[in-house]
Amino acid sequence: MSEISLQYHGTLLGAQRAVDISCPKTYQRRRPQNQPLYKLVTQNIDTFYDNYDETFLTNHGPLTRTTCKALEGFLRCGRIAFGFARAKCTDCGHESLVPFSCQLRGVCPSCQQKRAEILCRVVREEVIEPVNHRQLVFVLPRNLRRLFRNPEMLTLLCRTTVKATRQFYRAALDNQELEIGMMVLPQYFGDRLNHHLHIHALITDGAFDNEGNFYCLAMDMEHDIKILNKLWTKMVLDVLVKSKRISATHRDDRLTWKHTGFSVDGRVKVMRGDHGRLQRLVRYMARPAISFERVSYDAHTGKVLVRSAKKKVGFRPIVAEYHALEFLALLALQVPPPRTHMVRYYGYYSNAARGKRRKQDEVVETCSLQQKATPPLNLRRMRWAELLRRVFEVDPLSCPKCLGEMKLIAFITENQPTLIEKILLHLGEDDTPPKATGPPIWLQRLQAAEHNRVYAQIYDVDDSSEKENSDVMTIDYDVNWGA
Ligand SMILES: [Zn+2]
Ligand SMILES: [Zn+2]
Repeated sequence: MSEISLQYHGTLLGAQRAVDISCPKTYQRRRPQNQPLYKLVTQNIDTFYDNYDETFLTNHGPLTRTTCKALEGFLRCGRIAFGFARAKCTDCGHESLVPFSCQLRGVCPSCQQKRAEILCRVVREEVIEPVNHRQLVFVLPRNLRRLFRNPEMLTLLCRTTVKATRQFYRAALDNQELEIGMMVLPQYFGDRLNHHLHIHALITDGAFDNEGNFYCLAMDMEHDIKILNKLWTKMVLDVLVKSKRISATHRDDRLTWKHTGFSVDGRVKVMRGDHGRLQRLVRYMARPAISFERVSYDAHTGKVLVRSAKKKVGFRPIVAEYHALEFLALLALQVPPPRTHMVRYYGYYSNAARGKRRKQDEVVETCSLQQKATPPLNLRRMRWAELLRRVFEVDPLSCPKCLGEMKLIAFITENQPTLIEKILLHLGEDDTPPKATGPPIWLQRLQAAEHNRVYAQIYDVDDSSEKENSDVMTIDYDVNWGA
């Protein structure tokens, strides 16, 4: 079940929620092919592949198979022509088609949004303890960011960040035995989709002792954050020296600078029990690099406009303008190398520590004669429908006609093209896969302009005189037209 995605938008029609009567009781499948971001990728991907080595290889490194897979997967995601599940209402027999999603990282905004929703729930129900939390954002100097691009260095950076934070909390609380809980999410992008590696962390605003008692830290934003920043800067530079990425002299020099380029921000706090704020924060930390509504694309010029992720007075200002190929190169940088963990848990929140606590809880529960009120929540099983309710605000398994229960009755994969075509034809659906469209329009125009320029040079055509006399037509009556 979890392999499938439903992409609908509309009103939630669940019986338990009030139905907005101004909206018709219908829902529509998401049609990614109508989105500018989709058009941009589909029209330019071949030209991008052809030009990559010449234009982007030096600055961006080689184009990996994982990256190509993510770009191509995005073009298949949510498209019914690439396979779907059939859902049928057990009451009225109404049928709908549910396209598959790509589930790939880095490019597809829809799948990343779903991943962020899963994370929200995991964090709330499996990870955090009922204490205050804080968000810390660690920013690296621009010229050092690329040194952490490979997975081993990224892991080192995350561990160093945790080590610095732990050391800071232990010193501030004056107890070397304490342990912090920390969730770390490296993010590769800035608001302009520029390559901007930085680290988001959700941490307990204090630390636990061996018995599980929590000691809160009243952090002074001015003073304490500066100390944490200094500690982190020193430790990260040490790691770079040790791994021979920078020289010891450069480290020592940089440490004397007034502005080292390293910064830590810790102003966002989440109070115990404030699930709404926690959810918004986790969603923000795990958000996609780019979303559909932030991109506009002009096929004739190849110009891409990127809008900010942050709304200003309900409006997203334009923050960057790129050429289509340049935009694709930046998007490609967002694909993490295979098996890179994009969410990591440390200290009191590490998988090992949480597993140990869960085991202890189970022992206590088994010893107790009291019956369990509810069985432990199996998130892996429950997520799918719940997730779609949250992301698309519809109940995927609630019939749009009678609100009855929809069941998935069959899965049609793209290995059955004849069957797909038959079903689509029967339902009056036209969702043919994208055909090779040749070069994008902007390139065709460029090529045509170039052709005209070369033609003009070879035949010495005087454009200006042609323009002036464009309305005058001369007919040579002496020509024998073969009539
Ligand atoms: Zn029904
Ligand atoms: Zn996807």
